[in-house]
Amino acid sequence: MKHIAVLGSTGSIGTQTLDVVRKHPEMMDVVALACGSRIDLIEKQAREFCPEIVAVYDEKAASDLAVRLADTNVKVLGGMDGLIEMCRIPTADVVVTAIVGMIGIRPTIAAIEAGKDIALANKETCVCAGHIILPLAAEKGVKILPVDSEHSAIFQALQGRAGSEIRRILLTASGGPFRGRTREELMNVTAAQALAHPTWSMGPKITVDSASMVNKGLEVIEAKWLFDVDVDQIEVVIQPQSIIHSAVEYEDGSILAQMGPSDMRIAIQYALTYPLHLPSPAVPLDFRTLAGLELGVPDNETFRGLPLAISAIRTGGSMPVVFNASNEWANAIFRRGDISFLQIYDVIEDTMSRHSVIAAPTVDEIFAVQDEIDAYCEEKYNS
Ligand code: NAD
Ligand code: MG
Repeated sequence: MKHIAVLGSTGSIGTQTLDVVRKHPEMMDVVALACGSRIDLIEKQAREFCPEIVAVYDEKAASDLAVRLADTNVKVLGGMDGLIEMCRIPTADVVVTAIVGMIGIRPTIAAIEAGKDIALANKETCVCAGHIILPLAAEKGVKILPVDSEHSAIFQALQGRAGSEIRRILLTASGGPFRGRTREELMNVTAAQALAHPTWSMGPKITVDSASMVNKGLEVIEAKWLFDVDVDQIEVVIQPQSIIHSAVEYEDGSILAQMGPSDMRIAIQYALTYPLHLPSPAVPLDFRTLAGLELGVPDNETFRGLPLAISAIRTGGSMPVVFNASNEWANAIFRRGDISFLQIYDVIEDTMSRHSVIAAPTVDEIFAVQDEIDAYCEEKYNS
């Protein structure tokens, strides 16, 4: 039996993780859940899965939940301390990091320190603290298993090939809802338009990141950390149907790709059943849809999310933190309608150009950088 803790159980990845657990009751169970504030849903999840611990970041929501769950044996915790305790729960084998944003850094580190394997969806943590979590995971002997569909595809294409030499990683991108548009055509796009993703159904933050190609930029940095490759070895390929989830090209010229339906539950499940491919809740791919498979190159002039990320990781140190934190700020403010879509790039570029790089930032330094960026952006772009 694999005992699972789900950090961010009420979101898109979290609820799909619970679908995977429902499919395999004989091999998986849930020992802990956590969310930001959606206690209606987490209460239902707690009643269905009977975890030992449920953590809610919002303290008021946590006390309300404790009252609602008073008839159960579930221990309810609040705040960052609650998330950290939930990730350290002695009975868990693996923590699925389905939380959104760099708020996931401290809980993820706590889980690794406690010896838990990590099924990593929370890419912002990898981008900002890859230099901390990858060496720590190696030291503790814990596995970091990718959940992001592209990284799961790459991970699958790497199986059983130890000693082989990789030429390139081909990281696929759908191109999002605005693929093919010009800068002029992007001037007045709204959050509602950015939130209508053509192939994937995901949480709002990553959906906007997909529209801006910032998501692909975060994924290049994530791939660099997870697979220990040089950023020059990663090539982004547009695949609008999201059927080829990514590929590895070896030195002999062979390209091994992983394909499948656009259903995150396949990648989530593989992280939990690795190295086994077992029946999953996903509907199998209809091969007639493969007839329309297209491939292309990204438009880096219009969608600057990718080149800005590559520049951040080339600079290294705290620069990827700046890329990520300024995007987290801009993404949220764009969704509120307070800045335009193209201003997301201006905010990232501006904050990156002002930053004095810290070589290997500590966790405290990472959050200090975020605080500075939030204060600067509020003042300059939102007052
Ligand atoms: P989402 O917005 O649907 O869900 C986010 C979850 O995080 C929710 O359960 C929410 O309660 C929780 N959360 C937010 N702030 C919190 C806080 N302060 N404390 C505790 N919990 C908090 O997001 P999502 O789309 O599921 O994405 C989650 C992560 O997975 C992101 O890092 C995203 O980039 C990554 N990811 C998502 C997908 C996808 O298909 N949705 C694919 C690949 C990677
Ligand atoms: Mg992805």
